[in-house]
Amino acid sequence: MTTEIQAAAKKAEKLAAVKGMNDILPASVPRTEKLPDSHLWQWFETAVRAVLGRYGYQYLLTPIVEPTALFVRGLGEVTDIVEKEMYSFVDSMNGDRLTLRPEATAGIVRAMIEHNALYNGPLRLWTIGPMFRHERPQKGRYRQFHQLDVEALGFGGPDVDVEMILMARALWRELGLVEGRDVRLEINSLGQPDERRAHRDALVAYFQQHQASLDEDSQRRLHSNPLRILDSKNPAMQAMIEGAPKLIDFLGEASRAHFDAVRASLDAVGLAYRVNPRLVRGMDYYNLTVFEWITEQLGSQGTVCGGGRYDGLIEQLGGKPAPAVGFGLGIERLLLLLQELKVPVPSAAPDAYAVVPPGAPLPQVIATLEALRAAGVRVLQHAGGADGPGSMKSQFKKADASGARFALIFGPDEVAQGQVAVKDLRAGTQALQPLASPDAWADALKLQSAA
Ligand code: ATP
Ligand code: MG
Repeated sequence: MTTEIQAAAKKAEKLAAVKGMNDILPASVPRTEKLPDSHLWQWFETAVRAVLGRYGYQYLLTPIVEPTALFVRGLGEVTDIVEKEMYSFVDSMNGDRLTLRPEATAGIVRAMIEHNALYNGPLRLWTIGPMFRHERPQKGRYRQFHQLDVEALGFGGPDVDVEMILMARALWRELGLVEGRDVRLEINSLGQPDERRAHRDALVAYFQQHQASLDEDSQRRLHSNPLRILDSKNPAMQAMIEGAPKLIDFLGEASRAHFDAVRASLDAVGLAYRVNPRLVRGMDYYNLTVFEWITEQLGSQGTVCGGGRYDGLIEQLGGKPAPAVGFGLGIERLLLLLQELKVPVPSAAPDAYAVVPPGAPLPQVIATLEALRAAGVRVLQHAGGADGPGSMKSQFKKADASGARFALIFGPDEVAQGQVAVKDLRAGTQALQPLASPDAWADALKLQSAA
């Protein structure tokens, strides 16, 4: 470590998280910037495991740091991400050029090529983890954010495109969201490279005719990547963009058939969607089917989930040519959406809080709580500091604050008679239960976790 870094570290007054990067905290930690509580992240992951398991997708983890070249080659040089959003740095130990991953697909494809993983046939995969993009932080847009990323490698048919879309729908349902109402589906086809080239030529000609209404970014992209202009969020350009030639009119027969097959299957399962000819997605690697699940509840951070087919990427990154399709889902956005819509979500509260008065026989208390936990009850034991357990009043305060439905009161007199008082904190009622047979009354405590 250089002395320069050491000196700067000493001078830094207050250590805080990097701007746009958040701590994901338990419900009990008060804070101003309110991202959904950590137990909801766990709940989300449980739902993901259940749904993706049903479709036979397998879990993997790849590194958060990858060679910069992977993303430059994979995502395309003239994309928002590569041009201005990547956290890239030189490894001071050996001079390697590295990047904190801005998305998951390139890393997964790199890993599968490296391990020759498609040798035994196609693969269905998923991962969850942090991604990094240097964007302007706002609600639903962060510099470190988290994605569920799902990929199916080696499948070329429209059936897997549909599987991807339906899997996302199954996840909405698992979480209590209603498709069509809370999140809606938009799809498009980007065709194949030659079709895109013909469309691109027509686009350049069109934009040249309207050069005066292009902003600076778009001027620059007119020749390097005119397709990106369609992706522009500049309101002043929307009307002009609306009139641009549409790729869908340049699709050949095979591309059209692929798109029609996707649509026919979606129609057959009764999943409503809108064909959005301007849906292009932020990465260069997409072809044929692209889709987004969108909400109106999160302003311009409305895309909760986006994906599509990327048949050229595996070869582009040095692998044996193989088609593929995948999607990325923003976990912060999804949890914010659930919050916004007040969708019922599980509580972080325990079922019961054990009040342990001074003088309570601790071994018996602990034995009882262990038996209740073994029976599946979520019990928080009041634990004192070095100077004792604290007054009954303060213990009951803690019991209330914990959100528990029941307080278990281990008064010395009751315990001496082989009993514990169980107080329903909501109803205010109280009953005595036998310490000898916790199994007999454990289920009655599980109202909360069952809800
Ligand atoms: P946007 O158009 O909102 O910038 P994107 O097209 O760049 O999104 P993708 O690269 O497709 O997004 O990533 C997939 C999903 O990851 C998005 O649909 C979104 O839910 C989430 N996501 C992308 N960027 C961010 C971010 N900076 N903060 C939080 N979530 C994000
Ligand atoms: Mg973006």
